[in-house]
Amino acid sequence: MKEKAIRYCGPRWLPRVRLYGVEYFVDERLREFRDVTNPHDAIGFGSDRGRTMLREFFVVECRECGLEIGVSTDTCEHTVGCARCGHSFTVRAM
Ligand SMILES: [Zn+2]
Repeated sequence: MKEKAIRYCGPRWLPRVRLYGVEYFVDERLREFRDVTNPHDAIGFGSDRGRTMLREFFVVECRECGLEIGVSTDTCEHTVGCARCGHSFTVRAM
């Protein structure tokens, strides 16, 4: 018997991360952060600010749907909510 794949197969969802009170998309293809509410506000990974931001979060995977979620390293424990499936769980900063 074949198992059904439950992986999400729709359009690609970009990981998000909240840094300095702003939520950004992390776009690895374009190598930039983009403000979720203002996509014209983009910060290149190679810029000074972008390089600093890259050091200030780590990525976890939603246990329900596999979406990557960026978690800021500025506090030791976070409740993370998945933007795609709504699942929430607690992670500890490394
Ligand atoms: Zn999810």
